[in-house]
Amino acid sequence: MNDCIFCKIVRGEIPSYKVYEDDHTYAFFDINPINEYHTLIIPKKHYENMFDITEEEFLNVAKTVKKIVNLYRDKLEMKNIQILASSGAEAQQDVFHLHYHIIPRFSGDNQNMKWHSHAELREKFDELLKRLN
Ligand code: AMP
Ligand code: ZN
Repeated sequence: MNDCIFCKIVRGEIPSYKVYEDDHTYAFFDINPINEYHTLIIPKKHYENMFDITEEEFLNVAKTVKKIVNLYRDKLEMKNIQILASSGAEAQQDVFHLHYHIIPRFSGDNQNMKWHSHAELREKFDELLKRLN
């Protein structure tokens, strides 16, 4: 028996606030929302993250991401969102069933996703590309 929390949500074994579902995907509110309508989109089948999901299943998830973005645009006049999917513990993934966060943003929401950039890494770009060959 798979005890993954998101698989349990898909099976209806634990409650969720469903926004949308189809044969392949399920969308529901994040239980610890950053803002109103903070939504998670998952494949119904269990994949850990972006490393093991198949291309076909990823496309199903991507289509649902776009559907939800359109829904929030059309119904709520939403104009600002961030879309995030962490893959791996060191990339801050906490639930190991692939999920895309749709995070609505608005001026004054007191949130700030700030990256720390490293301009010195530009010197390594040639070397980094070589390692891909
Ligand atoms: P991440 O850190 O990207 O793996 O995010 C996992 C997200 O799942 C967090 O934002 C949690 O708030 C959310 N979460 C965990 N359990 C539930 C649940 N039962 N229902 C809805 N969202 C959940
Ligand atoms: Zn799962």
